[in-house]
Amino acid sequence: QNNMLVLRSFMILFFSCITIKINLCFPSIPSSLKTLSIDGHFDFEQVEHAAKDFGNRYSYIPLAVLYPKSVSDIATTVNHVWQIGGGSELKIAARGHGHSLQGQAQAHRGVVINMESLQGHKMQVHTGNFPYVDVSGGELWINILRESLKHGLAPKSWTDYLHLTVGGTLSNAGISGQAFRHGPQISNVYQLEVVTGKGEVVNCSEKQNSDLFHSVLGGLGQFGIITRARISLEPAPEMVKWIRMVYTDFATFTRDQEKLISGKSTFDYVEGFVIINRTGLLNNWRSSFNPQDPLQASQFKSDGRTLFCLELAKYFNHEDMVLVNQEIKTSLSQLNHIPSTLFISEVPYMEFLDRVHISEIKLRSRGLWEVPHPWLNLFIPKSKIHSFAQEVFGNILTDTSSGPILIYPVNKSKWDNRTSVVIPEEDVFYLVAFLSSAVPSSTGNDGLEQILIRNKRILDFCEIAGLGVKQYLPHFSTQGEWKSHFGPHWEAFTRRKSTYDPSAILAPGQRIFQKLI
Ligand code: FAD
Repeated sequence: QNNMLVLRSFMILFFSCITIKINLCFPSIPSSLKTLSIDGHFDFEQVEHAAKDFGNRYSYIPLAVLYPKSVSDIATTVNHVWQIGGGSELKIAARGHGHSLQGQAQAHRGVVINMESLQGHKMQVHTGNFPYVDVSGGELWINILRESLKHGLAPKSWTDYLHLTVGGTLSNAGISGQAFRHGPQISNVYQLEVVTGKGEVVNCSEKQNSDLFHSVLGGLGQFGIITRARISLEPAPEMVKWIRMVYTDFATFTRDQEKLISGKSTFDYVEGFVIINRTGLLNNWRSSFNPQDPLQASQFKSDGRTLFCLELAKYFNHEDMVLVNQEIKTSLSQLNHIPSTLFISEVPYMEFLDRVHISEIKLRSRGLWEVPHPWLNLFIPKSKIHSFAQEVFGNILTDTSSGPILIYPVNKSKWDNRTSVVIPEEDVFYLVAFLSSAVPSSTGNDGLEQILIRNKRILDFCEIAGLGVKQYLPHFSTQGEWKSHFGPHWEAFTRRKSTYDPSAILAPGQRIFQKLI
């Protein structure tokens, strides 16, 4: 027993010495940050908000939040953390608008950089043959739209929701109904300014430091912090014809979607969604949508069947109205939807692009925005979409009303395979997005646990059936799962990590590299 006591005392002494040594080598981290000479400031007190995100399920409290006023504030901070080395275990997360789903923009006992503080840097729109806009990495897309519209211009590729930052969406891909034509947002960037994991400020593009440029695009924040981006623009239309139509047959629905994204499409935007177990469909329909034949439309009964709704948009200017109407009529006549369910509405371009914000305002007012969001986004190869739909819409999801389920195809040729994003190996693949909110419904089917179980069933099915599905906005718990997500690209991904962020300081919330690599 005496021996045990001696051993215990020895161990305590040994570990105390190590702790003292570490503290001597690495003085208290907050105080070391306080010594940095920066234009902005650190907040060590009010940090809880940086441990929240849209997903509302993960919360990691940081030590400090940096409000940078300049790019050099970010570089100084990252360089400092890089210099004090891996022993400190201090990590840094850039936080855009915090609309991640599983803590991706958080840093447990680390530093969160509030990228929106950089917004003050003026946006610069350049007109001419190849118009573009230079923006801060913390800029919201809605602000870019407003600014570029002053010049009659707008970005080409969007997300459905615009209150997200440039750095946040470019770290993933940024996709919406325009992606079939223009590719994701990461295919529409000319140049970036990046602070690497060593604190170096580097400009990169197709021609200059191209490996860093491609690494960062779709790079889940792993290789650098995007502080500036040059985004390609096009002439903005005044108005949008916004069209929806319903299908009962999945094969007919996808055949039409695929027709619409191939070749020279009439439309500027192609999306779609699944309607599960909704009776009285027309009563639920958005009031701003007018059926082409109201009487016939009122007779359409869904009878609780699963339906598929195709959503299209055609941009136009007032002066081209007659021509555009004719063009739309011709294109629609080649589709095979249920004729009575053709709904057409006409809205200003800005209203169309900012459409999800209108829903946000409504949901916020009913306390339904800040609920858990167990979203699941998948890329599915075209050849497997029918097997997927049969099992998922026909079996797993027969009774749910937890949120929209988007489904639309995109063309792989518009994606650059040098970027870091992982997509399926087929010329056409679908985005299927289960955008669930965990609000218990009357059927009791849509609580958080039930949704998570359904998501897992979907993922398990994809795995067992070998569908070659890839997660978009991916989230995994183990490095093994990450490896299989990246597949043959894993080696390049880790090489890029050891080149640009060798101490694995950046974006710890993605949980790809837990320790120093
Ligand atoms: P954050 O959540 O703050 O950050 C996301 C990740 O990027 C984190 O790892 C963070 O560390 C990193 N990061 C942030 N800023 C930078 C930077 N400047 N440099 C480097 N890394 C950085 N996505 C689509 O593609 N299409 C859609 O239609 C779409 N619709 C959405 C609708 C809603 C309502 C929501 C909540 C999300 C939607 N998303 C969509 C997903 C969205 O694109 C991602 O969640 C995106 O990351 C959110 O941007 P953010 O600015 O909030 O980023």
